[in-house]
Amino acid sequence: MAVVGGGNAALEAVVDLLHYATHVYLLVRSGELKGDAITQQEIKNSPNTTVLMNTKVAEITGDKFVRGLTCINSATGEEKKLDLSGVFIEIGSVPNAELVKELVSVNEMGEIITDARTGMTSKKGIWAAGDVADGLYKQNNIAAGDAVKAILSIYAYLVKKEK
Ligand SMILES: Cc1cc2nc3c(=O)[nH]c(=O)nc-3n(C[C@H](O)[C@H](O)[C@H](O)COP(=O)(O)OP(=O)(O)OC[C@H]3O[C@@H](n4cnc5c(N)ncnc54)[C@H](O)[C@@H]3O)c2cc1C
Repeated sequence: MAVVGGGNAALEAVVDLLHYATHVYLLVRSGELKGDAITQQEIKNSPNTTVLMNTKVAEITGDKFVRGLTCINSATGEEKKLDLSGVFIEIGSVPNAELVKELVSVNEMGEIITDARTGMTSKKGIWAAGDVADGLYKQNNIAAGDAVKAILSIYAYLVKKEK
C-alpha cells in the first residue's frame, strides 16, 4: 500500500493500514513530516513502513485495480517504481463552495465562514454546515450536529420573521 501526504491524516492512514498491509510506503512531497511527533515515531519504528521524503507521484498504474506507482525524488531526480495494491491520497480537500462564494464570506481556504453558535453565514438567511463550513474538524457527527444547529437556528429565524 502507499499513502500520499505528510500531515496527520496521512500518518493515521499509515498506522491504520499497518494492521492489514504487508508493507506501507508513505510518500511525502516536502522534506518534513507535519503530523504528531508520536505518530511519526510509531511509523519510523515500524519495520513494515518506508517513508520516502521529497517524493512526488508521477503516475499511478493499473488496469481494473491499482498495480503500482511511479514516483520521483525532487531532490535527486531519481525515479522509483513501486508495486502496490492500493494508494490512499491524504493531501487535504477543496471545499465545494463555488455555488455561494459570491454571496457569502469565505476564508483563505475557501471554507464558508459561519457563526459558531448558529451556523449562519455572513449573509442573513443563509446557513452553512459540514465540511464546506469553517469548522476545524471534518467528521460525520460534526457535520450532522452542525446541520441540526443550523436547522434550529433557521426555525427560530422563521418564527421571528412571521411575527
Ligand atoms: C476517505 C474519507 C474517509 C472519511 N472517514 C470518516 C470517518 O471514518 N469518520 C467520520 O466521521 N468522517 C469521515 N470522513 C469525513 C466525512 O465523510 C465528512 O466529514 C462528512 O461526509 C461531511 O458531510 P457533509 O454533509 O458536510 O458533506 P458530504 O458528505 O460531502 O455531502 C455533501 C453533499 O452535497 C452534494 N452537493 C455538492 N454540491 C452540490 C450542489 N451544487 N447542489 C446540490 N448538492 C450538492 C454532494 O453531492 C453531497 O451529497 C471521511 C471523509 C473521507 C473523504
